[in-house]
Amino acid sequence: MAHRIRVRPRPKPVAVESLNTLRSQPWFTVATSFEHSLHQQPGEANSRQDWELEAFIASGGKLPSVFDQDPSLRSGLGAASATLPAWARRTPEDPSTLSPWAGGASGLSDGVSGIYSPTSFETLAACPFKYFLGNVLHVKETAEPGDAHRLEARDRGAIVHDSLERFFVDAAAEMRLPGPSDTWAVEDHARLAAAAGEICDRFEAAGKTGGAALWYVDRARILRDLKGFLAADDERRLVSGNAFLHAELSFGFQPKEGEESANQPPVAVPLAGGDVVHFRGRIDRVDRSPGGELIVYDYKTGRASEYKNLSSADDPLSGGRHLQLPIYALAARAAFGDAPVSAYYWAASEQEGYKAYGYQVDEATLTRLGEVLAVLAHLVGDGLFPQVPGKPSRNSYENCRYCPFDRVCPSASRTGAWESRKWSAGLADYVALTEAVSSEPAQPGVPSG
Ligand code: SF4
Repeated sequence: MAHRIRVRPRPKPVAVESLNTLRSQPWFTVATSFEHSLHQQPGEANSRQDWELEAFIASGGKLPSVFDQDPSLRSGLGAASATLPAWARRTPEDPSTLSPWAGGASGLSDGVSGIYSPTSFETLAACPFKYFLGNVLHVKETAEPGDAHRLEARDRGAIVHDSLERFFVDAAAEMRLPGPSDTWAVEDHARLAAAAGEICDRFEAAGKTGGAALWYVDRARILRDLKGFLAADDERRLVSGNAFLHAELSFGFQPKEGEESANQPPVAVPLAGGDVVHFRGRIDRVDRSPGGELIVYDYKTGRASEYKNLSSADDPLSGGRHLQLPIYALAARAAFGDAPVSAYYWAASEQEGYKAYGYQVDEATLTRLGEVLAVLAHLVGDGLFPQVPGKPSRNSYENCRYCPFDRVCPSASRTGAWESRKWSAGLADYVALTEAVSSEPAQPGVPSG
């Protein structure tokens, strides 16, 4: 049987020339731009944004009171009006105050009333504007699964951390932890490899591991690093006589609803000046020495160069860039009793030789912690978040090279901009804190025993 196909005629496109023939119609209007249309036909807004723009235009550029209810819009318009005229007139910035464009955000700060991660304050010390974007405005990178050409460093770190966490937590629960002079058995190596394999598969399924050839290499390297880590752990316990005490000590996190948690309370650090800042975190591991000292470890999977002189530095907190160890030491003391504490970054890779870098956290270090945090808390409390790029380094700046906000920061002469803005009101203590410390790659230091 023959079928008839009915084709619905499509409307013909209207040529621009024919539009001109319609100009005489009473319903026909010409708008040369979107903004022009808002000027021309107020009251015909199609969306909330259109309506807000109309209200703004009708006010002659002054903010109508209705915008008081939208603080982000007010701040954005305030920042734009504070900056654009200066650009247009090419007049120099007022060096005595931080403008909204340069990181002055006093209206947006609610002080240091939350529970913070040590790394967020480390970011604040390195570049307050980076902290502002990531931790105050919560701007996030947009990464699409499948975009990565190769496993990213942070995902590699997550695989290694998750694998070691699962392995050590299971070993502790099953009473398989070795004594100081014991070594991990062949079956233990197989358990760690199996745990790591499962976690690798999960990252692969999520599209985070990049091309097949490079992932083959990266996966093999992760498994090799983990196998070597168990051997390094055998050696460390044998040489030091330390015993494994606890894996994954978390503090300051809110347990999820219905979840039973071994979570410890937040660490409260008293500041010089009387305030208190609260911290949360996860300590990878705590050991105990034969003399009763607590030994805290934080596993690191990247380059260890920035930690190499911590043990011998005048300021082991590096002007606020290294705060994890003393805060973790306080958390370990709170959990296991008031004992001396040493804290270390432990490089979990063959490339870095599985060395650990750190120091004994004494009272002088804890006093210094309170002083450093007071300076940083003052920035947050006063809403002072200047852009601090650091020294020029490899076609960029040392703080900006791996910063996710590199593209949104003004690119011209970042060092020059910071050099002129650092004299702004309220920044003197921050400048004194951070500029006394060299962030150049460190000299080889003393690995822990
Ligand atoms: S790009 Fe540089 S100046 Fe801008 S936020 Fe990042 S570290 Fe700071």
